[in-house]
Amino acid sequence: MGFKNISILGSTGSIGTQTLDVISQSEQIVINYLTTNTNILLLEEQCKVFNPKGVVISDFDSFSQFKSSTKFEGEIYFGEEGLEIISSDSTTDLLVSSLVGFAGVIPTLNAINNKIDVALANKETLVAAGEIITTAAKNNNVNIFPIDSEHSAIQQCLIGENIDDIEKIILTASGGPFFETPSEKFESITIEDALNHPNWTMGSKITIDSATLMNKGLEVIEAYWLFGLPVEAIDVIIHPQSIIHSMVQFKDSSVKAQLGLPDMKVPIAYALNYPKHKSYDFKRMNLAEIGTLTFFKPDYNKFPNLRLAFEALERGGSTCCILNAVNEVTVQSFLEGKIGFKSISEINSLMLDKIESTNNPSIHDIIEADKNARIITNEYINSNNGIYK
Ligand code: MG
Repeated sequence: MGFKNISILGSTGSIGTQTLDVISQSEQIVINYLTTNTNILLLEEQCKVFNPKGVVISDFDSFSQFKSSTKFEGEIYFGEEGLEIISSDSTTDLLVSSLVGFAGVIPTLNAINNKIDVALANKETLVAAGEIITTAAKNNNVNIFPIDSEHSAIQQCLIGENIDDIEKIILTASGGPFFETPSEKFESITIEDALNHPNWTMGSKITIDSATLMNKGLEVIEAYWLFGLPVEAIDVIIHPQSIIHSMVQFKDSSVKAQLGLPDMKVPIAYALNYPKHKSYDFKRMNLAEIGTLTFFKPDYNKFPNLRLAFEALERGGSTCCILNAVNEVTVQSFLEGKIGFKSISEINSLMLDKIESTNNPSIHDIIEADKNARIITNEYINSNNGIYK
């Protein structure tokens, strides 16, 4: 195989920078486009090293500043329009979709509609628009490679297997930093506590989602769409060491698991090289050193967000999109100090009951549902400001 052209949406974020690290170890990859929201200093550095065809900057002030000061000579685009142009450029072989939140949905769909394979780190895309995305991928014969350790694990376990032979998939969850914290102490959890994940280094949105177990909830929805299994065939187990990244149980009771150290570069490398395991110098796992692997049942009362995700899947229509939008607002409000940690799931649950879902949503309906859910949730939080602190 010759050179592979890759574009990265969100190249200055946690997944974006790690993807570039992995790419810098491979001579077979050429960078087409890079994008950032506001981190133009890092983008400038990345342009120097990887010399892309063009870049997109989503924040207007940052775009203007970059344009007037940069030494980069390629194309420079602004905002959603820029994302549309680059995500539709079919000279790209693989689009790494690692924007944060709902912003990833439309560019990912564009890429799929232009027959570009997608390495998907933005799980919100499948959560908000799972049916639309997977249908488009099927119609355009496009591959979706998950850059999520759990789904990458399942994809690896399914090599050579028949989907009809699967009894269930078992997603592992680290449990986050509050797995052992008694629920009566949840009131006093601070932003710093919640941002301190025991195993994984990630962006702030996903780190908070890991602490509330919403991340696992979103991953349940992601798995539902990626692997086409019924909701009942998706299980979650707490595994604090994050060594087993997930498992598949077959109809003869046999279970396959994929193991490794918690390092996002491994699922990134697999997504870039699928179905090959190319050579990299990542740190090797030493099971004798690790010694013990433990497993626990998830506590749905302590972490109601996980239950909400299963509920949203069962309700269907635009419910998962609404849950995702509401959760983006509550997490942001928590990070801004407007609401307490416990209120994230409380408000998520309230809003899921309050906001009406539509059946068989089009992409237009999804965009509207997302906007609407954000407005309602923001209004609710602002009008009750103080109560939820
Ligand atoms: Mg994950």
